Amino acid sequence: MAAVTELRCSLCDRAYAPDSVEYTCPDCGMVGTLDVLYDYAALRAHVDRDLLSASADHSMWRFQTLMPLGEASEVPPLRVGGTPLMATPRLAANLGLRAAWVKDDGLNPTGSLKDRASSMVIARALERHIPVVSTASTGNAAAALAGVGASVGADRVKIVIFVPASAPEGKIAQLIVYGATVLLIEDSYDVAFDLCYTLCQEQGWYCRNTGINPYTVEGKKTVAFEIAEGMGWRVPDAVMVSVGDGNIIAGVYKGFYDLLQLGWIERIPRLIGVQAEGSSPLARAWQQGLRAQDMPAEEADTLADSISAGVPRDRAKALRAVRNTGGGFVTVPDPDILAAIPAFARLTGVFAEPSCAIIYEGAKRALAQGILRADDEVVFLATGNGLKDVKRAQMSVGTGQRVPPDLASIRRALGIS
Ligand SMILES: [Zn+2]
Repeated sequence: MAAVTELRCSLCDRAYAPDSVEYTCPDCGMVGTLDVLYDYAALRAHVDRDLLSASADHSMWRFQTLMPLGEASEVPPLRVGGTPLMATPRLAANLGLRAAWVKDDGLNPTGSLKDRASSMVIARALERHIPVVSTASTGNAAAALAGVGASVGADRVKIVIFVPASAPEGKIAQLIVYGATVLLIEDSYDVAFDLCYTLCQEQGWYCRNTGINPYTVEGKKTVAFEIAEGMGWRVPDAVMVSVGDGNIIAGVYKGFYDLLQLGWIERIPRLIGVQAEGSSPLARAWQQGLRAQDMPAEEADTLADSISAGVPRDRAKALRAVRNTGGGFVTVPDPDILAAIPAFARLTGVFAEPSCAIIYEGAKRALAQGILRADDEVVFLATGNGLKDVKRAQMSVGTGQRVPPDLASIRRALGIS
């Protein structure tokens, strides 16, 4: 087990004893999200990289020695992580990059990268005997929590979900199928977030809300571990990540940061965040050189529901991830996000939801702006499965051609004789 030495504020750098704070920095408030830090010298001395790589466990828990959970502690049975890192030469050629890979986290059990965070949070709830875990979510984090929770059993961990009523049907169906208590809030994600947090404080529930729970990143960081391991402990030049709350890009940064402290990699790749134009407060803050605590709250309006966040909860860590790595932010308007769904699928075989396919269009803009370069090796982080939001995909490609069941009609439809 990796013993947590301290929780450190990503904003003011103040350190706290691991059990003295549950969520965010008491001095900075909600914007001061915390890093979970370890005794890296001890880990360097005791964790053998090759031994770890030889593990027969291909889930994210193969990295348990680098995660904040006791060795004997129970982890949820639903298999999360160990997703493919696939070389995609056609994507590289199409964009004019030296090499490209897709890390396909849409293949996680509930269809998104969020499974990693939810597995970590449920493991912590089990370890600490907390009977109720709750989250506000645009959909994916909620589905992940409901699914991982179901694998453990509602008699041990009950799941309470707050999602905007406008969330895609597929995601809402997942929640109900898994048996979570589901509240469809008739307002935005940002409003649902605050309601959930308030109720968690009041009821003593464990709050999984993205950003404010420092342990979500400790699950999400495993995707960076898998990228580095999959490349033979080399790292790419850049990683493309879609960004809403900023917690995934924070997780990718933390994973590479941990590996750098261990001496297992030589540098952290440039992290390039892609935001929807209608929900791009982080891109604007980066362009204007704003500090996280000075960012104004904004209205978010984009069809890319998973990255629709007017108040990015992990804004401090997201800005740090991009600034510390020499990366950047780009934005993509909704029509181009829709067009990216089939474009990305036809170049890679990966059917991505809108807020994931956006990274394809984001890469084009990053190349045009010099944030990506033609000689770069780039990993595209696919965060969510396209089957979660079929309606948006249909807005892009239509609903298909109906044909009468006879050969003449079929020949006519195919344009053959
Ligand atoms: Zn602070």
